[in-house]
Amino acid sequence: MKFQDIDFNTYFQQYPDEKGYFGPFGGAYIADELKSAMQEITDAYFSICQSRRFIAELRRVRKEFQGRPTPISHLERLSNALGNVQLYVKREDLNHSGAHKLNHCMGEALLAKYMGKKKVIAETGAGQHGVALATAAAYFGLECDIYMGSVDIKKQAPNVARMRILGANVIEVKHGLATLKEAVDAAFEAYAREYKDCIYCIGSVLGPHPFPMMVRDFQYVVGEEARAQFLEMTGHLPNAITACVGGGSNAAGFFAGFLNDPVEIFGVEPLGRGAKLGDHAASLQYGEEGVMHGFNSIMLKDEAGEPAPVYSVASGLDYPSSGPEHAFWQKIGRVKYDVIDDEEAVDAFFTLARMEGIIPAIESAHAVAHGIKLAKQMKHGSVLINLSGRGDKDMDYVIEHFGEKYGLK
Ligand SMILES: *Cc1c(COP(=O)(O)O)cnc(C)c1O
Repeated sequence: MKFQDIDFNTYFQQYPDEKGYFGPFGGAYIADELKSAMQEITDAYFSICQSRRFIAELRRVRKEFQGRPTPISHLERLSNALGNVQLYVKREDLNHSGAHKLNHCMGEALLAKYMGKKKVIAETGAGQHGVALATAAAYFGLECDIYMGSVDIKKQAPNVARMRILGANVIEVKHGLATLKEAVDAAFEAYAREYKDCIYCIGSVLGPHPFPMMVRDFQYVVGEEARAQFLEMTGHLPNAITACVGGGSNAAGFFAGFLNDPVEIFGVEPLGRGAKLGDHAASLQYGEEGVMHGFNSIMLKDEAGEPAPVYSVASGLDYPSSGPEHAFWQKIGRVKYDVIDDEEAVDAFFTLARMEGIIPAIESAHAVAHGIKLAKQMKHGSVLINLSGRGDKDMDYVIEHFGEKYGLK
């Protein structure tokens, strides 16, 4: 199937199908005891989607608490320096707590509240998802259990402190390598024990149905706002849009606003140190079909067929798969997926800071680097980049590892 055969006017009614598939990708590969819990979440989600009260509450929260709509900024100095093409950024870095993740965490926590749950649980690697969920839980008065590996707890002290200040329980996972994979397993086990009182909140467009759909829908606000704002600002649509893809949530919501438009869409994966397995996390670029963490998608596998070790300078992007809808968009040719390596991302980090006064998250810097690449290839037109978050969290690391090259050491 090609994207030309799909009616994008009815895309959201068709995808995912009722079993949670986007073409061959998605689904729910989970233990029997969790199937009814997922069904309960799915049913609750479809019913609140129709609820005026829920929609009004989510709108109010986005405006009064999150600070939405976030603006679009024209990168005038950078565009002029590169040539004719005009670059713009959608400023998710200005969303409360500094990134797009709060968009779906507020949605998930509000859903938990509507379902009468007392608690939200999740795992976190670098801590960004944990902080966003702890923020949402505090706002709605829910308990919050965050599972995190001992290694990550040591590495991510500021985010651990944020979660604890916000009132979350950070639960240390000590077994195995004591990083994200073990934290995912521990959180799933806890959920299987406690699902009557809580919901599990996945941090991206990943996991079993209905999460890839729900998280995309909660992030759709980014694309919807961006499209209207760009039209109002310039009188036309951008020629191309680009966003970084870890699990793929910021990209999914942003792209969803433009699927039905004559706009070229690019997702950017992290090439890390290079194309060798273990040196990158570019799953759509180099991976193959497989099931992990409850869904079927394109993933990076080791020789045993297990999720392969991955690496990127951006800890928010180092996941060995991507959301099933991205695998689908790639398969039908609606979105092109490209790669940016560590050095290009760090270069874009400093370029945006020094030419525009915006310090991007190192994840978002991958999208900025790609926008710069497009601007050099295209002769004219405009590119809209999704700036998924702000870079305060990355400053120490970037100075320590790359400071010399940029005159800071
Ligand atoms: C977590 C994170 C990402 C990656 O997550 P997606 O689900 O791929 O969007 C990107 N940017 C920032 C700032 C993040 O915190």
